[in-house]
Amino acid sequence: MAYVITDDCTKDFHCVEACPTDCIHPKEDEAGVEAVNQLFVDPDGCIDCGACVPVCPSNSIFPVEEVPAGKESFIELNKAHYN
Ligand code: SF4
Ligand code: SF4
Repeated sequence: MAYVITDDCTKDFHCVEACPTDCIHPKEDEAGVEAVNQLFVDPDGCIDCGACVPVCPSNSIFPVEEVPAGKESFIELNKAHYN
């Protein structure tokens, strides 16, 4: 399992600071950050701790099995960012 970021993300990077495994990218200073509309969780690095959820002001982050209807494509999109 892993957590998934959806398109309501406003790229404020709060979740990056909260994540203990550094699995949310791109970070503010990383190449390509301007080109993306949202951040992405690396499913291989996520330990399902949930620390990113309460710090997200736009409620954009969900456990994979709780991704809202219509936003299922973001499960693959988060993963694809790291492939
Ligand atoms: S659930 Fe934990 S490990 Fe996974 S992205 Fe959120 S803060 Fe990082
Ligand atoms: S905390 Fe939420 S809005 Fe902010 S960067 Fe993370 S997912 Fe996006």
